[in-house]
Amino acid sequence: MSVLISRNPATGEKLAELQVTVEASLPAVFEKAAVAQRKWSAFLPKERSETLLRLRETILQHIDEITETIVSENGKPHFEAMAHEVIPTLDLITFYAKNAPKILADRSIPLTLLKHRASYYNYWPLGVVTVISPWNYPWLLPLGEIVMALSAGNAVVFKPSEVTPLVGLKIQAMVDLALFPSNLMQTVIGAGELGAAIIEQKPAKIFFTGSVPTGKKIMAQAAKHLIPVNLELGGKDALIILPDADLDFATSAAVWGGYTNAGQMCASVERILVHDSICGPFQELLVKKLARLRQGPSGSRDNDLGPVTLERQKTIYEDQIAEAHAAKAHFLTGGELSQDRRYMKPTLITGEGIENLKVYHEETFGPVVALTTFHTTPEAIQKANSGRYGLLASIITRDLTEGERIAKQLQVGSVLINEVCYTAGLAETPWGGVKDSGIGRTHSAAGLLEFVNVRHIHKPRLSWLTFKSLWWFPYTQPQYKFFRAFAELYRRGWIRKFSLFPAFVVTFIRLIWREKRL
Ligand code: NAD
Repeated sequence: MSVLISRNPATGEKLAELQVTVEASLPAVFEKAAVAQRKWSAFLPKERSETLLRLRETILQHIDEITETIVSENGKPHFEAMAHEVIPTLDLITFYAKNAPKILADRSIPLTLLKHRASYYNYWPLGVVTVISPWNYPWLLPLGEIVMALSAGNAVVFKPSEVTPLVGLKIQAMVDLALFPSNLMQTVIGAGELGAAIIEQKPAKIFFTGSVPTGKKIMAQAAKHLIPVNLELGGKDALIILPDADLDFATSAAVWGGYTNAGQMCASVERILVHDSICGPFQELLVKKLARLRQGPSGSRDNDLGPVTLERQKTIYEDQIAEAHAAKAHFLTGGELSQDRRYMKPTLITGEGIENLKVYHEETFGPVVALTTFHTTPEAIQKANSGRYGLLASIITRDLTEGERIAKQLQVGSVLINEVCYTAGLAETPWGGVKDSGIGRTHSAAGLLEFVNVRHIHKPRLSWLTFKSLWWFPYTQPQYKFFRAFAELYRRGWIRKFSLFPAFVVTFIRLIWREKRL
């Protein structure tokens, strides 16, 4: 039986040796989940909400040990683990416990013509879904998906990243303590091969967060079984600094947006587009602030930047930096790993030709930011929209109207004006990307609806309004002429003006014509 070793990325210390889940056990995992899901879907919405709130209480009781587990396995500072990971999930649970029953309640669909009939949306759970997660926010990201899945009445088979399995098991422990039906959520431990084996069990839907290459593999495998996918993938987010921006505010936004979580964030600012009229003072202040960032071991409580969590990320940084050096790009600061190769120094690169380099086009996923300038607003928009990603963009300006005008031209899933990155953690607002940044949305009502099937129910308003429809057999000449005349009402705009009138005529004709239908 193979094992997975969890290590502290700041020290290399071995934290645990875990048994990898055997692929042959997966059918039983899914069967048990299906049994639990049937039980859970019979819970009243109020009962589901109460169970979710128990999970929130359990997390609160264990918040310090959860924070420690995140810090030791991922390497991020304590503040980030607690404030950027655990607290948003408390809010997310509260939001869905309160709002899921409303979002998932039957919803009426107004019909323009057929006033004698009623239609409504009726939502029902997908069944057993799978959540496959990355290592960079190992608590926030999977728990958000799991809470939405459970709120909607599903069971979950969860595979945390092989880099952060202990955080995954901590989520499982909290769910177990909150007394959900047993086996409703099950965590399996392993790497990509296990993820692929999970898909062969045909989950009702795959909720994947991770890289573009893996997303493509998952989608191709899912296509074989026609399994729907939600893909939250990478980004190369632009921060646009307009000429009226407050420089102190703009540089602080750039520092936090580009370097929080040591830049290992899908929504990190990876490209700064600054107006050429303010570029000099902006760069100067930004470099000063970067020099003040404290990089240190995850055990210390007052560091700002932790280590590089995943070894293979270092190859990406070194490759992009080598190319930038070869192209004679200008390194305003940083550009190398620390001596022990555990930390990447905050790096800011600029210079002519930078827009042709990988550091400007390909996801870096680290504390390495490319800076370029623009002269006109259309040029800024064109630059921000260049490339294959479309996750998030930010704009710094004092003119909110201009900010919104630009925002509506950016090809991304979210635009933040005078803020950066953080809405990935908001429960109420949708999160997701366009282009290579993914498919589907998470969080918000839209995210919850990704976890249900939509059933349309259509019925007569009253039972005596049940009669044979005019478009049923037999097809006759008068019927044809009637429908042809009806089409004229559209030409004259009457359908729009008197939407009730044709409905009454149709209803009346139906009543007198009903005996003639087959
Ligand atoms: P990754 O794609 O290497 O792995 C993610 C998960 O997929 C892991 O659990 C891994 O074991 C699993 N996996 C790998 N191969 C698989 C396969 N063939 N079938 C099924 N599962 C498989 O990504 P990563 O390095 O863990 O995370 C970094 C990436 O995640 C970055 O690109 C980042 O932008 C992205 N990300 C996106 C968001 C978002 O919300 N859009 C959030 C966080 C991270």
